[in-house]
Amino acid sequence: MVEVHGLTKSFGDLHVLRGIDLAVARGSVTVLLGPSGSGKTTLLRCLNSLEVPEAGTVRIDDVEVECPRPSRAELRRLRATSGMVFQSHELFPHRTALENVTEGPVYAQRRPRAEVVAEATALLTKVGLGDKVGAYPHELSGGQQQRVGIARALALRPRLLLFDEPTSALDPETGGEVLSVMRDLAAEGWTMVVVTHEVRFARQVADHVVFMDDGVVVEEGRPGQVLGDPSHERTRRFLQRIL
Ligand code: ATP
Repeated sequence: MVEVHGLTKSFGDLHVLRGIDLAVARGSVTVLLGPSGSGKTTLLRCLNSLEVPEAGTVRIDDVEVECPRPSRAELRRLRATSGMVFQSHELFPHRTALENVTEGPVYAQRRPRAEVVAEATALLTKVGLGDKVGAYPHELSGGQQQRVGIARALALRPRLLLFDEPTSALDPETGGEVLSVMRDLAAEGWTMVVVTHEVRFARQVADHVVFMDDGVVVEEGRPGQVLGDPSHERTRRFLQRIL
């Protein structure tokens, strides 16, 4: 479903992605692991054109972006394929949970408000926040805000969900609530690419684990293999540090 070939991206002199190839199967969960600065977030942002790569291609189903000079229309189409959940929830502070979820579908996708409100209410209920639709972000815990962020991503009816360290700003308990929602989404068959240091989640939920370091994919494979019996010394050293 997702195919990335030869992706490169620099910020000034800093070569952050140095020829990434990645394939993600429909309905699978891919976990991206790697040390700080290895390029995981940048890769995720290239998948939904928040960053534009310098070279390489990104294809999601029938939408292909060819670098270095993709057209705006190509980038817009790519953006529309995925929903992104960020590290910190980044909700609009003066809008309720429901308004945060309806904003994108109503204003960006121009879908009928009544239909969007019904769908958004159902999505908030699905993530366990049926009684919080009218709450403002400051009235919600970090984990609840993050679950609003997930509902907001789902409301855009994406084909693919991208998560950038969705639990790293949370304590273990509220982080656990978010991981539990993500488990449910995986069980429903969503295609997900998740940057996380939650090795337990990767072991239990991922179909595929990709270990990155210094802008390249060092190794990838089934979680049992990459996490349990890594073939590369760099992966082994990283896992020793975080386990
Ligand atoms: P972390 O686990 O700490 O989030 P990461 O693996 O996700 O790290 P990236 O966020 O992709 O890494 O960043 C890779 C490198 O690119 C870092 O050195 C970072 O400082 C740099 N970088 C990222 N975005 C920008 C930007 N917009 N401008 C300049 N440098 C950037």
